Amino acid sequence: MAQILNGKVVSGLIKEGLKKRISKVYPPVLAVCLVGEDPASKVYVTNKYKACEEVGIKGIGAEFPEDTSQKHILNLIDSWNKSKEVNGILVQLPLPPHIDKNVILQRIDPRKDVDCFHPENQGLLMAGQPRFLPCTPSGIVEIFKYYDIPVKGSNVVIVNRSIVVGKPLAMLLSQDSEWGNATITLCHEHTKDIDKICRSADILVTAVGKRPYFKLSADMVEKHQVIIDVGINRMCIDGKNKIIGDVDFDEVSQKVSSITPCPGGVGPLTIACLLRNTLQAAEM
Ligand code: NAP
Repeated sequence: MAQILNGKVVSGLIKEGLKKRISKVYPPVLAVCLVGEDPASKVYVTNKYKACEEVGIKGIGAEFPEDTSQKHILNLIDSWNKSKEVNGILVQLPLPPHIDKNVILQRIDPRKDVDCFHPENQGLLMAGQPRFLPCTPSGIVEIFKYYDIPVKGSNVVIVNRSIVVGKPLAMLLSQDSEWGNATITLCHEHTKDIDKICRSADILVTAVGKRPYFKLSADMVEKHQVIIDVGINRMCIDGKNKIIGDVDFDEVSQKVSSITPCPGGVGPLTIACLLRNTLQAAEM
């Protein structure tokens, strides 16, 4: 049985550290914009508010119906950009199809872009001079640090090439830094021989979220591997709605060296790193 990489333990330690640094007199403020009725997005936003409260960050928010205009959201972002009170701004994704995600994300003041999705912040990361560390990728690095998983010189395969997970994680892990110096392969829907590429990894990160079309099964992994499961899939199992990862956990955890569970793996760390970025924005 693999070692379980417990994201709740690691995120708990990060949050304890943040609590000590956060001023009770001038708490940092995170502003969250939610558009539409997507139940998963509502749960994510609620969890973010709860986490803010836990460490002493003030979460403020605006919720809009599905048919809200792009202009309306842009006006809100402009007002948060100008506000001296707001330190961090987050627009919950996905947005309804009539709203251009790129236009919205690029409107956020890069100094308040705590998700690190703005092209300026992604560019700084690529240049090796990050302003904010991207939340999910830096959460994964926190797992490596806590469990002392060697990254330097390792082959890291990432099944994802989005600006949320794959690309920024590739940037972090390929940097010439203490938790970098890995050799990276990014996979996507057009990747040939993906099973073989997955088996070639020392560290295998999967972030697809499209079960049953993609599932990381036991025949795609090897004994020595570290498996990081970022994917979130909502499935009806035995008549109950459940969240599971991309990985066939029962089978894969019997074979590999270590593995994150889902839930309880990368998710809590993503939130902890968002809180850390909000404090950093306030300190800047
Ligand atoms: P996304 O933009 O849809 O990215 C999905 C990626 O999977 C794309 O690169 C896509 O390739 C690739 N893909 C899809 N089908 C594939 C297949 N059959 N074989 C190989 N690759 C395939 O989504 P995202 O925002 O990056 O998020 C990905 C997943 O991670 C979602 O389930 C999301 O909920 C989860 N997530 C979790 C956390 C957390 O904190 N736990 C944080 C962020 C995201 P193409 O580019 O070719 O389409």
